[in-house]
Order: sequence, then C-alpha cells, then structure tokens
Amino acid sequence: MTSPSLDALRHAVPSDIEREPHDYAIDGVLPRVAFRPGDRREVADLLHAADQHGLVVVPQGARTSLELGRPLGQYDVALSLLGLDRIVEYVPEDLTITVEAGLTLRHLQEELAARGQYLPVDPPPHDRVTVGGLLATARAGAWRGYLPAARDLVLGATAALPDGTLPKSGGRVVKNVSGYDLHRLHAGALGALGVIVEASFKLAPLPPATRLLALRARDERSAARLARDLWDSHLAARSVALLAPAAASHSGLHREPYVLLELAGVEAAVERSVEEARALAGRAGAQVEATEGEPWRRLRALAGESGATVLRMGVPATSLPELVGAAARAGCLAWGYPAAGSVIAHAEAGLDPAAVRALREQAQRHGGFLQVEAASTELRRQVDPFEHGDAEALRALKQQFDPRGTLNRGRWMEGV
Ligand SMILES: Cc1cc2nc3c(=O)[nH]c(=O)nc-3n(C[C@H](O)[C@H](O)[C@H](O)COP(=O)(O)OP(=O)(O)OC[C@H]3O[C@@H](n4cnc5c(N)ncnc54)[C@H](O)[C@@H]3O)c2cc1C
Repeated sequence: MTSPSLDALRHAVPSDIEREPHDYAIDGVLPRVAFRPGDRREVADLLHAADQHGLVVVPQGARTSLELGRPLGQYDVALSLLGLDRIVEYVPEDLTITVEAGLTLRHLQEELAARGQYLPVDPPPHDRVTVGGLLATARAGAWRGYLPAARDLVLGATAALPDGTLPKSGGRVVKNVSGYDLHRLHAGALGALGVIVEASFKLAPLPPATRLLALRARDERSAARLARDLWDSHLAARSVALLAPAAASHSGLHREPYVLLELAGVEAAVERSVEEARALAGRAGAQVEATEGEPWRRLRALAGESGATVLRMGVPATSLPELVGAAARAGCLAWGYPAAGSVIAHAEAGLDPAAVRALREQAQRHGGFLQVEAASTELRRQVDPFEHGDAEALRALKQQFDPRGTLNRGRWMEGV
C-alpha cells in the first residue's frame, strides 16, 4: 500500500525492516504497514514520522494480549519490538539486569536460571511474551501479594515518544534510582504513553525448594475459610488460590472446591510449611493431594486461551469467595487469589454483555472492580473493558506524552 504519509514513514527508516502487514492483524483488522526495527533509534524515528502524518501506531511484542482494551478505531502501523531482543547489561552480584523490550521472558529466565536467579514475575499463560509486553500490561497473577508487582521490580526504563525522543527514567542499579518514576508510569499503560525500548529490573535468587499442594475441601465455605487461614499464616508461600469445582475439574482435579498452595523457599522452611499446611487442612477436614504443578499450569494456560472471555475482578479478600461463587454460577470457570484480592472468570464460549455487567455491579457493590482481560471485539464494544477511576487524569497524561494520539489511540477510552 502506498500514500504520501506511508512513503514518508518508509523514508524515515531502512527498507529492510518493513514486514508483511498480514502477519499483524488485530481484531481482524490489518495495519496499512508493518515494521520490525532493529534498534531504538529506528523505533523513535518511525514513531516520530507516524506522529507527523497522523498515523496510529500499535507497538507489539509476542501479540498475546492485543485483545486487552477497547477495539481500536484506527490501526495504520504495526510496530514489532521483537528485533530489540538483547541483554544490555547483567550484573549477577547486584541482582540487576537491563534488557531490550523485545526479549522474551523465556529467554530472560533461561539466562538468569544459569546463575541461580530469576525475574520474580508471575509465570504468564505463554512464556513467549516479551519484557515490553509484560511491563505494558503489568498483569498480576497467582504470586501477587507475595512477590512485588512488575512495576515494583523496574528500576528504570527508556521509552520512545512520538516526538522522536528517547527519555530515560530511573537507573540500571538499585542505588541510582532518582527523579520521577516515569518508568513506573509505562508499567500498565498498554503502550499508550510511549514505546518501551529498554528496561532494568531487580532480580531474586531462585528458591532452592518449591512444593505444590492441592487441598480438597468438604464444601465451598470450608475451602474459603482454609484459603484465608493459609493466607493469614506465616508459610513460605508464593501463592494461594481458591478454586470453584468446575475450575478444579478443568485443572485435572476432582470436581470439588479446592485450595491450591504453592510453597517456595529454603528446604527447611518449605518442609515446615508443608507440615503446617497439612495441620490447617486437617482441622478444616480437607484432604491433601500432592501435585506436580499440572493444575497450576492448566489454570495459567486458561487465563490466556484465545477466543475465550476472561474477566478479572479486584475485590477485598473477604468478598473473594462470594465473587468466585457468582462467576461460577454465571457459567464460568472461576478461581481467586486471596493475597491479590483478584478473581478470574473464564468462559470458553464467551459471555453475554448482561452477564458481564451483572458481575461488574456485584464487584462494585463489594468495593471492587471488573476488568475484561480478553473477549471478542463485539463484547469489548458493548462493555467497556475498563472502569476509569480518573478519566481526566488519564486524558491529561495522554496529552502530555502523546498529544496527537499516535500510540494505541482509543485502547483505554475514546481518544486515549
Ligand atoms: C487473558 C490473559 C490473562 C493474562 N494474565 C496474566 C497474569 O495473570 N499474570 C501475568 O504475569 N501475565 C498474564 N498474562 C500475560 C501478560 O499479560 C503478558 O505479559 C502480555 O501478554 C504481554 O506480552 P506480549 O509480548 O504478548 O505483548 P503484546 O500482546 O504484543 O502487547 C500487549 C500490550 O502491550 C503493548 N506493548 C507491547 N510491547 C510494548 C512495548 N515495548 N512498549 C509499549 N507497549 C507495548 C501493546 O501495544 C499492547 O497494548 C495474561 C495474558 C492474557 C491474554
């Protein structure tokens, strides 16, 4: 496809970074052009040229979460970050690393594991996700509440802005962090405020021992109580999840209410925690089943299954069992993480808008919120995927970073 604006874009960067648009459809819509730059300067030059010509750019990594947010009204340029996949600086003795945004999480974790370290972010449904996508979505899963959120692990970042600049914020090492935390602003911004090209992270040592227990409860009430007790106790836990029966069955367990417990730490602490968890389970009349992690793997895979409707509700931990129950009654596979106060509802065949609104109202009555994590284009047109606490603040930020709406325009809300 050619036009004066696309030609200007092509002139701004080397021709060998252009790609076929048909590999970059989003919600069934093809971009007019696609590029895969090899360095940050090319990213910034592309953005700047697009900005000058009123073109809308969608930065993308592994393309696993492009259904998060509202369907875009305009999609001109696909900007793949997969060409920026280098490890820039790794200092194992400081537990810090700086990487380019297109590096996959799998590659990163493999490099770190060789030195007995890891980036302690929840394992996402797909391990091909990129570091940039991970930061831009800033999703939390089972480990939230036990380990820092992605935005708290970022020491600094460099982002390309539509004016062609590449501002840096924060630093590469823990002690250098100063000034405004702009890098934290990009975490969770869905690529609407800038294109992350590089990020520095705090790392953690790999826990020497891990153990997974599946606790089969007598009924939903005692499962909820057990999940709370496990969360309240001082176990070497990395996650606790409360599963409604259908979600348990889908995870390869019996069709009963379950609590999944993941322990991680030094061997002695994990062993002691196993004993304490057994004692708590015994008092609750629950049966302890050892697992090799298959239930977790299946749950995580569910969260990222394409074509399904996936909802996330954030509610106080005390309301979590009720919302897990409500989502299950609405026909979803449902589970919740008490430490994060989040409930995930998965409907393979989709949900109708009224059911989503009803769950949202219920979450709101409990002082919480509902976010649509993935759904058909149609559903995301009918139900706003997000609840905007402070729409004016969001608009003001967009105005500051991307006044012409070049980046992911409309993904958050009209024009933003
Ligand atoms: C339904 C669902 C549930 C999930 N739940 C969890 C969970 O609980 N815990 C968890 O850890 N992970 C979860 N994930 C995965 C997590 O969101 C991924 O890290 C994410 O998919 C990003 O990877 P990606 O490279 O595929 O990004 P993409 O899908 O390519 O992009 C996702 C978004 O980020 C933007 N983006 C991508 N790269 C950049 C960049 N360099 N700069 C600026 N913006 C960028 C895109 O424009 C888009 O808005 C879930 C994924 C799905 C689909």
